Amino acid sequence: MYDVIVVGGGNAALCAALSAKETCQRVLVLERAPEAESGGNSRFTAGLMRVAYRGVEDLRQAIPDLTAEEIARTDFGTYTEAQFLDDMARVTEYRCDPDLTELLVKNSLPAVTWMRSKGVRFTAAWGRQAFNVGGRFKFWGGLTLEAVGGGPGLVESLTGAAKKNGIEIWYGARAVSLLVDDAGVQGVVVKKSGKTTQVKSKAVVLAAGGFQANPEWRARYLGPNWELAKVRGTRFNTGDVIRMALEAGAAPAGNWSGCHAVAWERNAPEFGDLAVGDQFQKHSYPWGVYINALGRRFVDEGADFRNYTYAKYGRVILSQPGQFAWQVFDAKVKAQLRDEYKIRQVTKHTANSLEELCAKLDDTDGAAALQELRAYNAAVRADIAFNPNVKDGRRTEGLAIDKSNWANTLDTPPFEAYAVTCGITFTFGGLKIDTGAQVLSADGEPIPGLYAAGELVGGIFWFNYPGGSGLTNGSVFGRIAGASAARAARG
Ligand SMILES: Cc1cc2nc3c(=O)[nH]c(=O)nc-3n(C[C@H](O)[C@H](O)[C@H](O)COP(=O)(O)OP(=O)(O)OC[C@H]3O[C@@H](n4cnc5c(N)ncnc54)[C@H](O)[C@@H]3O)c2cc1C
Repeated sequence: MYDVIVVGGGNAALCAALSAKETCQRVLVLERAPEAESGGNSRFTAGLMRVAYRGVEDLRQAIPDLTAEEIARTDFGTYTEAQFLDDMARVTEYRCDPDLTELLVKNSLPAVTWMRSKGVRFTAAWGRQAFNVGGRFKFWGGLTLEAVGGGPGLVESLTGAAKKNGIEIWYGARAVSLLVDDAGVQGVVVKKSGKTTQVKSKAVVLAAGGFQANPEWRARYLGPNWELAKVRGTRFNTGDVIRMALEAGAAPAGNWSGCHAVAWERNAPEFGDLAVGDQFQKHSYPWGVYINALGRRFVDEGADFRNYTYAKYGRVILSQPGQFAWQVFDAKVKAQLRDEYKIRQVTKHTANSLEELCAKLDDTDGAAALQELRAYNAAVRADIAFNPNVKDGRRTEGLAIDKSNWANTLDTPPFEAYAVTCGITFTFGGLKIDTGAQVLSADGEPIPGLYAAGELVGGIFWFNYPGGSGLTNGSVFGRIAGASAARAARG
């Protein structure tokens, strides 16, 4: 008999297990993936985590090794709890659960500080979230912290901490149903090495991800064509555990037709590839323009900072003819393109004129594309200075779809075009929990012994998502769920 069983092997699950182990003895982690593919979506990430901080002193709680020289050359600014709350409210169109969101925000810095105490190391994300202007880095978009070693480093250090703390981990162990009676949840039915067994426990934490890797559920819940999207991360998050909780009487919650989805290499494999990680993504579109198969622009590439638009633009790309689009840049912004544009596995064309480039775009109306790019160039307010660190207001005027910021003309060869499709990251719908991370039944009652955290919880993210909140969400609620489950196990 275990005190707590945690289902899942990613960030939320490992945080839950570490938290439970602080106050109870026997904690078991069930990870469906074999060890070589373990760690869920968390392992595919860059390890970026959104936390509220009032200044560099707060950040030092998570990064005590920041040097005086690093501090001198960096403007970390602030990202207050009020700003984080505002971002959550704004991007979710005021639908995010207020109590859970407040917990997420208020516990963000304490959660990473706690992770640090368990052995996870953090640094500042100079490479991805700050631009060097006049010799000084300035952070933007409220996202400053990243785990050392990115997602792989995060999962490795959490797994190491779990093992050091005496937490048992079973790999290749798929939870298939919950053991449940009128008194509540009594354990988990597990399939491991072809054998199905019952494993008893006093409490269970579910942290097994969303249903994005299940094409049938994608089409069923997200809508037509979603089976055509690529999965950015693990192939193991197929909604199994959401289903088994619903069968045990849990209430569904949140944005079941919504998900996080981004621009992703058009010819990427069906699921994520750990050797490539998140590098199939193509996030530098604010510096260029999008063109679809009809040769038309279809979205405001500069509506906001990248990390407030990228998670909803995957859906926009999926709805284009042929489910793909081109990102077009000129040489002026080449140095500004993110590292992911330099990988070998890109579908890309280069040309010395826009005419030549447009003629090369596969499956695309090149003549219409050329006309569209010329119209775009003519509409740019070149009198406003370009500044990537702020929403600079350098916009186009008079187009059917204007670009609101960072509108540079495409005039400096060589020109480049990258083909992207929709890559789904994770689904937003899931289980309903209370502020103790306890799963609520369809009748609104807490289900005794059942807790949940991370991607499979619904109600927090809707329509869109502020970058770096997924890991923070898993850490905050994993920590709460583990503590609550341990309390229930102690009786
Ligand atoms: C390419 C990519 C980049 C990203 N970058 C970032 C970023 O930089 N910052 C950020 O905050 N977020 C990022 N995200 C989102 C982030 O990955 C997720 O929000 C977060 O990792 C979810 O954590 P989780 O623990 O809930 O799920 P996961 O980490 O996916 O873990 C789910 C676990 O459950 C296991 N599982 C599934 N079914 C079963 C079963 N039946 N039995 C047992 N185990 C099961 C899986 O094998 C897996 O180990 C990114 C995602 C991707 C795909």
